[in-house]
Amino acid sequence: MTLSKSDGSTDSLRAETRLVVSGRDTASQKGFVNPPIVRGSTVLYPTAGDLYAHRGEFQYGRHGTPSTRALQDALMALEGPHCAGVGLVPSGVSALSTALLSVLKAGDHLLVCDNVYRPTRQFCDGFLARYGVETTYFDPLIGSGIAALLRPETRVVMVEAPGSQSLEMPDVPAIAAAAHARGAIVIDDNTWATPLFRRALEQGVDISIQAATKYIGGHSDVMFGTIAANASAWPALTETIRLLGLCVGPDDVFLTLRGLRTLAVRLYHHQQAAMNMAQWLARRPEVTRILYPAWPDDPGHAIWKRDFTGAPGLFSIVLKPAPQQAVSALLDTLKLFGMGYSWGGFESLIIPFDCASYRTATKWTPGGPTLRLQIGLENVDDLKADLERGFAAFNAHQ
Ligand SMILES: *Cc1c(COP(=O)(O)O)cnc(C)c1O
Repeated sequence: MTLSKSDGSTDSLRAETRLVVSGRDTASQKGFVNPPIVRGSTVLYPTAGDLYAHRGEFQYGRHGTPSTRALQDALMALEGPHCAGVGLVPSGVSALSTALLSVLKAGDHLLVCDNVYRPTRQFCDGFLARYGVETTYFDPLIGSGIAALLRPETRVVMVEAPGSQSLEMPDVPAIAAAAHARGAIVIDDNTWATPLFRRALEQGVDISIQAATKYIGGHSDVMFGTIAANASAWPALTETIRLLGLCVGPDDVFLTLRGLRTLAVRLYHHQQAAMNMAQWLARRPEVTRILYPAWPDDPGHAIWKRDFTGAPGLFSIVLKPAPQQAVSALLDTLKLFGMGYSWGGFESLIIPFDCASYRTATKWTPGGPTLRLQIGLENVDDLKADLERGFAAFNAHQ
């Protein structure tokens, strides 16, 4: 999918303004505020000459439409001036696999952070291994120590900052500097912060993906992935998307762009509510640790302060040691916190997790049961009352 910034450059504007004004071409929208939902495969050429020369803004539905162009323009404006293009794909997982496929070939070596999204590991250990790519996992806290793991054939270093369960925070600029010194490229999963709270491409990342299913879509009603690349990574990425035949439906594009318009107002609220909740949880006797880089006692706090401009509503907690039935009683008592996978919607969620079963480079020993919370847009005092009831049930089963 090719791109143009149809509204001209928005780089001088602040991020909140860019979220509102980018990807809108009022004249071509015949005055309407939003771009149309274009359903289309065939694009007609007015003359044989145009057909031979492939002349025209759009060529074929799979390669882009006014709908996809508008979303790409808005995402590019958010990613910032280092972004050469944004690919649109049907899910966050397909964003990760497509980014890796755009760079790797048989015989290559891949370094992957031990805290990455679990399906990424399954793609590396299953699919990529079958195609002759070898994966080594590394400690999320390795920093510039990554240099010792880089081999002549290491092509990619993959990071997630912070990991979406353990919330461990890798030092991406240090890892990227070591990787680039040895000719490897850096792929990062920036779903937690979104480009609003961290411009990954300005911190040494070459390809930054979003599970737009999460905060960008923002309403738990769409599956979507985006892949932003810098100028050196973009040509191979756009070619890979074309060769794999990846494209996205116009309704999903519409929902994603609609979500993107309110990203800032939602994330600022999630951040404030999550910090308020973390302060409350830190005083609870049932909670032994808060895993949230925005939290001052978190081991990743210094890196978060340096590299991020905010934190969303997703964090984890460690409970004091307790039998499984105490944790289940807590979860079964909650009414406002839903139990389910994914996050980034308007609603609060809670899920137990255990990284220990699939880690390979490091051991995960939190010292008690772990829960991940997404603090949604409900009133935070109502959410506290819900958890208060849950903790009472937890204590009754101790
Ligand atoms: C959910 C998630 C993905 C995958 O996104 P889907 O749209 O569900 O495929 C990738 N990375 C992270 C960090 C996620 O939380």
